[in-house]
Parts: sequence; structure tokens; C-alpha cells
Amino acid sequence: MLLIMTMGGVLASFMYALTQNSHINFLTRRSSCDSCDRTLNVIDLIPVVGFLINRGRCKACNTKISINYFFVELIMISLFLLPTITPLAYDNLVLYYLLVSILIPLSIYDYETMLIPLHMLLILLVTGLFLTNFINFDPFLDLIIVGLLHIFYFILKDKIGYGDIQLFSVLTVITPLDFFIFSFLFTYIIGGIAVIVLDLISKKRLVKVPLVPFIATSLIITFFLYIDYNDIYFGGHL
Ligand SMILES: [Zn+2]
Repeated sequence: MLLIMTMGGVLASFMYALTQNSHINFLTRRSSCDSCDRTLNVIDLIPVVGFLINRGRCKACNTKISINYFFVELIMISLFLLPTITPLAYDNLVLYYLLVSILIPLSIYDYETMLIPLHMLLILLVTGLFLTNFINFDPFLDLIIVGLLHIFYFILKDKIGYGDIQLFSVLTVITPLDFFIFSFLFTYIIGGIAVIVLDLISKKRLVKVPLVPFIATSLIITFFLYIDYNDIYFGGHL
């Protein structure tokens, strides 16, 4: 349990740093403060706890540390623990942990910048294919889906970013078809509800909405609510 928590937290700050292009050399060096370059000690590096002990500031230069690190770590630890409490309906823990590890940091990044870094999508594609042993890869069907996604994009060009289309394209290759369709539709259902609610609350008109947080949410929900074709068509008696 403690191991899963630590893993979730460490991965969270690692993956979040990886989304930032300027931090790509993070792999080879120890983390340091963004403003004064002070090397972080062991306590600073403890997920969530380190942030709380330092009250979200650098000890040396007192610069505020992005609270996003704290949120990413907290959300990821919770999502890492979730399958130990409630079993997954789509029972593929490896894929679950991969998607959580990549999409939660990506959600925060998309929310902040409205961008989806291409290298993160490539990491997701390659690790996703190998970790699932290509079982969800169907060249013919996946090509049709990717084609449909692009038609969808050309119709709604100013409503949806191309990064989102790329992310969906990667997801269709690494998840089963029905899983993908369910989470795709669910993204727009919860996204639509959220936009309506936000529209009512805020006075400003929403121009563009980051989609990755909704994609991530709907994928996680799909993992827990997934009912495969067999259950739908044969009532689970197969
Ligand atoms: Zn500093």
C-alpha cells in the first residue's frame, strides 16, 4: 500500500516535469529549484509531504513552487490506490497505471498551456503498444477510427485542437475498440456538462476548453464501468 502511494507520488512529479520541454534533461540531473537552481534535498523530493513542509516555497530563494506539482501528486496517489479498493471492470492494471501516469500530468499541462506535447504522445504510443503486447492494435479498424477522428476534426476545426485528435488516435491503438468508443463518447458527455456548468457560473464566455482533463476522467471511469461486448450482446452468458 505504502509502496503504491510512494510510486504514484514520485511518478507524478517525474511525469509532470517530463511534460515541460525545458525539463527534458530532468532525466539526467537531480531536481533543482526553477529560479535559484538550489539542488533539492531528500525531504523536498518527498511527494506531497515535501511540498507541505516547505509550505509551497523554495527554502533558499522563497519563490513559490507551482501548486500543480502538489495537485498532480495528490491526484495520482489517489488514482494509484483506487484499484486496490475497487477492482477494475476492464481488468488491465498495466494499461490503467500507464494511462494514469501519463494523462494526469498531461491534463494539468493542457489546462495551463492548451498544448499537448508531442513527445508525451509518442511515449504513450510506444509504451502502450509494448505493455499491451499489441493486443488492442488492429491495423484496419484503428485506421478507420483515425480517419473518422480526422473528419471529425475538419468539421469542428475551431472547436477542437489537433493535439486532442492525436491523443484519441493513440488511445484507439492501445485500447479495445468498445473501450475506446465508450470513453470517447463519455469525454464529450462530461465535457459538455462541465462547459454548461462553467458557462452558468462564470460571466466570461468560454472560448476554448482543454479536453485532456475530460479525456482522462472518462478513461478512468471507463476502466471501472467497462462492460464488454459479450455482456451487452449475450447478457454475460458466454
Ligand atoms: Zn529557489
